Amino acid sequence: MLVPEISLTPQMVDRFIARFGEEKIALLHSKLSVGERYDEWKRIEKGEAKIVIGARSAIFAPVENIGIIIIDEEHDSSYKSDMTPKYNSKEIALYLAKQANIPLVLGSATPDISSYYNLSKDDGIITLSKRANNSSLPQVEVIDMKNELSVGNKSMISKRLHEMIESNLQNKKQTILFLNRRGFSTFVMCRECGYTVECPKCNITLTYHIRQDRLKCHYCGYERKNVTECPECGSKNIRYFGAGTQKLEMQINEMFPNATTIRMDTDTVTKKNSYENILNKFKDENIDILIGTQMVVKGHHFPNVTLVRCNCSR
Ligand SMILES: [Zn+2]
Ligand SMILES: [Zn+2]
Repeated sequence: MLVPEISLTPQMVDRFIARFGEEKIALLHSKLSVGERYDEWKRIEKGEAKIVIGARSAIFAPVENIGIIIIDEEHDSSYKSDMTPKYNSKEIALYLAKQANIPLVLGSATPDISSYYNLSKDDGIITLSKRANNSSLPQVEVIDMKNELSVGNKSMISKRLHEMIESNLQNKKQTILFLNRRGFSTFVMCRECGYTVECPKCNITLTYHIRQDRLKCHYCGYERKNVTECPECGSKNIRYFGAGTQKLEMQINEMFPNATTIRMDTDTVTKKNSYENILNKFKDENIDILIGTQMVVKGHHFPNVTLVRCNCSR
């Protein structure tokens, strides 16, 4: 049984122990000392532990007679190891399952797109239509922003979302806006020659941050002054494309000048202004709109939040 990070899933481990008993379970994770890891390894090898629960490297556990492999939260990026030797636990699991002719179960509420595609080809998708605690699923609406553009809405907010935020504000309910990009514009391009400003080390486009008027690489942290003139052809016709949380915050503040907003992404989360502080502020001071990157969607519980908007497109 693979889990992304064992310290984040204590309830799950407890449930396994309650059901099968501690003596049947081996736990493998990075917090173990070398001695503890050795003991667990030996228990697995001798066949004393029937169930191995662990993070990605547990896929190498010396299980003799394996019957099923389960990967929980299979979309999680931690199953890929970028330390040498590089490996992906999911690929190894698939190989082992084929060799032993046993089932491999990938579990997720938000499956990895390639897993989903591969499994749908083989008719291998099993859908849980009800949630474990029987609570109802939220209503989800997908809005195609291309249609908004054709009626002249160039903002990041669809007409429908605008109405929903408005009604939330009137009813004193809170809103969370999620956007998977931070910064202001995701790339800066010369309209004359097509030059884009890239990181000299990573070869990816630099993101524009409006407050400091600087361009930053989101991979390695490289920064430079903003460009007003194309370094290639000298043209001053520089344009900003794509949108990040900073731009979203600015548009929201323009559209709803009386609403209070707070932004949470790696640019606003600092030691003093921690993750918890921002969330507490949102909760305690009843801030109207929380805007942020994936940090805002990590299973928090806000009783007063009735609208969540995602933008997962590029
Ligand atoms: Zn140019
Ligand atoms: Zn870089």
